[in-house]
Amino acid sequence: KIAGKNRCMVFNSSEDKHLRGHNELLEQLRRAIDLSELVLFYQPKVNMRSGQVIGMEALIRWQHPEKGLLAPAYFLPVIENHPLSIALGEWVISQALHQHQLWLKTGFYLPISVNISGYHLQQADFTERLKHLLGLFPKVKAGALEIEILETVALEDIKRVTETLNACRKMGVNFALDDFGTGYSSLTYLRHLPTQVLKIDQSFVRGMLQDAEDFSILEGIFGLSLAFDRELIAEGVASEAHGCKLLEMGCELGQGYAIAKPMPAEAIQAWVEEWKPPTSWTQTQKLTRC
Ligand code: C2E
Ligand code: MG
Ligand code: MG
Ligand code: MG
Repeated sequence: KIAGKNRCMVFNSSEDKHLRGHNELLEQLRRAIDLSELVLFYQPKVNMRSGQVIGMEALIRWQHPEKGLLAPAYFLPVIENHPLSIALGEWVISQALHQHQLWLKTGFYLPISVNISGYHLQQADFTERLKHLLGLFPKVKAGALEIEILETVALEDIKRVTETLNACRKMGVNFALDDFGTGYSSLTYLRHLPTQVLKIDQSFVRGMLQDAEDFSILEGIFGLSLAFDRELIAEGVASEAHGCKLLEMGCELGQGYAIAKPMPAEAIQAWVEEWKPPTSWTQTQKLTRC
C-alpha cells in the first residue's frame, strides 16, 4: 500500500533482511553520533615541488566498539539521501572548524576541507546553518574552510546549487569539485559553478603511468583548469613516480599515500614539521611542449 495502489510485490526474504540490516545500521549510526564514536582523520594536501603544506582534508571514520575502525564506504551509503546526512555533515563541519582552531592556537595555519553530501548541500537553509556553525568559532576565518562536493551532485540541481555556492562564497567559504572527471562534467557548468578547485579523480592518476588515455584525460583536465582559472589538485598520488609525472605535466598540488595517509589529528603537527618532498620532486621541472 505504501508503494501505491494497484501494485503487486513479491515478498523476498533476503531483501527484507537487507532492509533490516540497512535500518539497523542507520540506528547504530545515529547512536554513534550521540556517543561520539565518529572521528575525523586528516590527510595533507601539499605543493609537491615546494613542499608547502596547503591544507588538510577531513575524512570520517567510525570507531566501532566491536568492529574497529570503519571506513566511510561501510556506512556513508546508508545515509545518502537521508536526513541523518545533515546531522553528520554538520558534525563534520564543526569538528573540523574546532580542530582548525586548535591548530591555530599552537601556531599552525592549516586550512581544512570537508566532504558534504548532495542531500545536505541541497537543504534550503544550508547557507544559514553554515553561517551559524562558523559563528561558533569566531577565531576561524571562513576562508580556511573548503567544502568538497561531487561533480555529480553539483549537476543534479545546478541552479539551486549555484545559488547556494554563491551565497557561501560571499561569506568567504571555498569550494572544490571532488572526483573530477568521473561525472558528466559539462564545460558550461564548470564555467558557472563558483568552485575554485578541481580535484582530479584518483582513478586517472592511478592509471596515468601505464595508460596513455588516462594520461591524456589528465592533460585535458589540466588544460581546463588553466583555461577556467581553477586550482588543480591530484588525488591518489600513490608513488614517487606519480608525483614526478604530475610535476612534469605542470600539476603541482597533490594528495595521496606517497605524501601521507589520512591520520588522527594528533599526528598532524609532527608530520607537518617533518615532511619534505622527495628530491626527485623538487628537481622535476615542468616539460614544455613544442
Ligand atoms: P574522497 O573525498 O575522494 O577522499 C579520498 C579518498 O581516497 C579517501 O578515502 C582517502 O583515504 C583515499 N586516498 C587518499 N590517497 C590515496 C592513495 O594514494 N591511494 C588510495 N588507494 N586511496 C587514497 P576514504 O577516507 O575511505 O573516503 C572515501 C570517500 O568517502 C571520500 O572520497 C568521500 O567521498 C567520502 N567521505 C569521507 N569522509 C566524508 C565525510 O566526512 N562526509 C561525507 N559526506 N563524505 C565523506
Ligand atoms: Mg574529498
Ligand atoms: Mg575524491
Ligand atoms: Mg572519492
